[in-house]
Amino acid sequence: MHYTKKQLICVAFDNCGLIDSWKAIRQFSLDLKSKGHVLPYTFFISAVKLIADRNRSIYDGPDGRPYRWSDRPKPGQSNIGFGGSVDEIKQRVEQINLATAEGHEIASHAVGHFFAEKLRWNSSEWSTEFWYFEEFLKHVGRNHGFGSEVSLDIDPKQIKGFRAPYLQEASGLNKTLTNYGFGYDTSDIITDSSIWPTRFSNTSIWNFGLPLIDHPLGITPTNPTGKTIPMDWNWFYFDVENQTIPKGQPNSGQLKPETDPMKREQQKQGMLDGYVSYFESCYYNPDRPPMHIGHHFKMYNHGIYWQALQEFIAQTIDKPDVEFVTYTELMQRCVSREKALPTPEPIAESAKKELIEIAADTGGAVACGPECC
Ligand SMILES: [Zn+2]
Repeated sequence: MHYTKKQLICVAFDNCGLIDSWKAIRQFSLDLKSKGHVLPYTFFISAVKLIADRNRSIYDGPDGRPYRWSDRPKPGQSNIGFGGSVDEIKQRVEQINLATAEGHEIASHAVGHFFAEKLRWNSSEWSTEFWYFEEFLKHVGRNHGFGSEVSLDIDPKQIKGFRAPYLQEASGLNKTLTNYGFGYDTSDIITDSSIWPTRFSNTSIWNFGLPLIDHPLGITPTNPTGKTIPMDWNWFYFDVENQTIPKGQPNSGQLKPETDPMKREQQKQGMLDGYVSYFESCYYNPDRPPMHIGHHFKMYNHGIYWQALQEFIAQTIDKPDVEFVTYTELMQRCVSREKALPTPEPIAESAKKELIEIAADTGGAVACGPECC
């Protein structure tokens, strides 16, 4: 088989709070750079991580239409805490600026990490959330009593990418993304990883959804399809599925790490094997669809998923035609590809229906636990 295309791989992280993780994740890329490799990440930042705990009242998240009144976001509330001390804010700004200078992409994971779908947000609520996101990035120094020495080197208006907290998109999101100048959204769950991404219907926004891939435990009572998305929290959720999760609260954040080191090693190998299998399904496909991986800064299950991801990258980055890219780079490649195609490739309605059903079966919103930071 003669391949004319590059195998593009996107590696992204959500929330982006923990300073130690910023350093470790950046360092892994720097180490590879010293060996002649390029590993740019996309960081989906939660803007509450740019607000010190003591300043939390400056954020008043959108109400929406709460399913229980107690679930209504209140002023100074988020689902993932805030940014810690003022000194931590300063350190986080430094890390973001270093990451930008090193070629990584900064994107948006909204602000308060709320359940937009459960709160039935519309474009008005999304707009409020996006407005806060821009404000908190723009004024991170001023909000904490600093001068111009503490500021982000990125203009929030230039940010192109979004991932919804819990992957809960809710109505009106695409309209808001368009109004705010975004180019892509990574919040969808897609059933077919063998095709190239397309734009959401009737919008210019690219759908870079995460695909459902095989989980090593296969079909189980809690996972009737045997599949999940390539995301550490979701992998953790199914690896420790014997634990009791309150019904309807897949994101309860109560998952406990595996205590048996042998089992943890198996779980790490399970993710590595799963990612290699996913990679091969793309790499040996003549069309070479891009590959997506989304992790968090929190080292779930004693860090085995971060270890598995590092091993996967280390053994893949040397392969011919493999190129790790940011999501904005992927978007540019998709635009070029679109121009070269004779006709657009619409998503079939039957595929959409199947997507919704499978996402519902597998707890499609099972992404990023509240404790992720
Ligand atoms: Zn998240």
